[in-house]
Amino acid sequence: MTAAVLPTRPTAAERRAAPSLAAAVRDLDARRARSRQRMIGASEVGECRRRAAYRIARRRPTNPRTGLPAFLGTELHRGVLRALRRQYGGLTEVALAGEQVKGRCDWWHAPVVEDLKTTSRGGFERVLTRGVPAKHWFQVALYAWLLRTGQTHDRRLPVGTECGVEGVRLRYLSRDSGEDVVFEADYDPLLTAEAILWLTEVYATVEDDGVDAVPRDGFGPGVDAMCDWCPFLDLCWGPPVDPETEGDLSRQSRLTVTEEDYVEAVEDYDRWRAAEGEARRHKEYARERLRGRSGPAGELHCEWSGGNVRTQVDKDAAVERLVELGEIVPTRRTRSPRSIRVTRAASAE
Ligand code: SF4
Repeated sequence: MTAAVLPTRPTAAERRAAPSLAAAVRDLDARRARSRQRMIGASEVGECRRRAAYRIARRRPTNPRTGLPAFLGTELHRGVLRALRRQYGGLTEVALAGEQVKGRCDWWHAPVVEDLKTTSRGGFERVLTRGVPAKHWFQVALYAWLLRTGQTHDRRLPVGTECGVEGVRLRYLSRDSGEDVVFEADYDPLLTAEAILWLTEVYATVEDDGVDAVPRDGFGPGVDAMCDWCPFLDLCWGPPVDPETEGDLSRQSRLTVTEEDYVEAVEDYDRWRAAEGEARRHKEYARERLRGRSGPAGELHCEWSGGNVRTQVDKDAAVERLVELGEIVPTRRTRSPRSIRVTRAASAE
């Protein structure tokens, strides 16, 4: 008779060990990925056409894990929505589904639909300085359109109920400081049409020419954060570079195959370097013209900060002093940054 193989009993130390939060989040993410409906979400419209194409073509995400920071963001998001609903009423997390796009609108508080974004300190600062990205306006415009046309998929709303929406709102909440900033606009059917056109073009290209014909709107890992966090990163740019076999290459460098690719990349580098220098010159000129001035300026606001006297370690003096005392100066080995130099080739006589 074969003896039953029983699982090893956990030791006392294993039973006492704190459950791993990271493992729980990984498991949740994996389950979410499996159940993910492969239709494009309104939050992805206007972001990257290639990513939208992968969704449309039902490609399996290669990098589905979002990790602990995103998990914390989701939980915070849920808590804030609950507080808004309890305080002011309305419906939160309303499921919407059109023919080509689905979504879950954060808060419908007639006659306005709101989307809440919890952001890092950097993200919050970016919104304050650069304003709302177009894709976020697309997203709320699509929610408004789906609600207005009764394209809902929510047991709290009878199918086909046309919900009154006259305005759209985006609320950004900084996870670090708890500050929030709100941007509002009237519902704009033209913006909705633009978002639908964006989506229709992606669907058409996938159908006619396949996914790989749809352009990438991100510049890849290490350059664009949206690629670093993209669920299709490996599918789009290939697996991570293996330093053993590929040395100092990058995933983007795999696109530079022919001599023409190489020449085009060098020319691109040269063009953007010139544009960067020119932009910096203009910015510095405007900055000098603003010295001593602050306050509102139309839709913008200007203020200066810093300039205070502070005490810092004088590294040179500290090293000198250590040497005087006969101490060994602490060092660490680092790799110097790789630098690139593109110059004009001398013309032939
Ligand atoms: S990795 Fe970047 S370029 Fe590729 S699909 Fe994702 S966001 Fe788009």
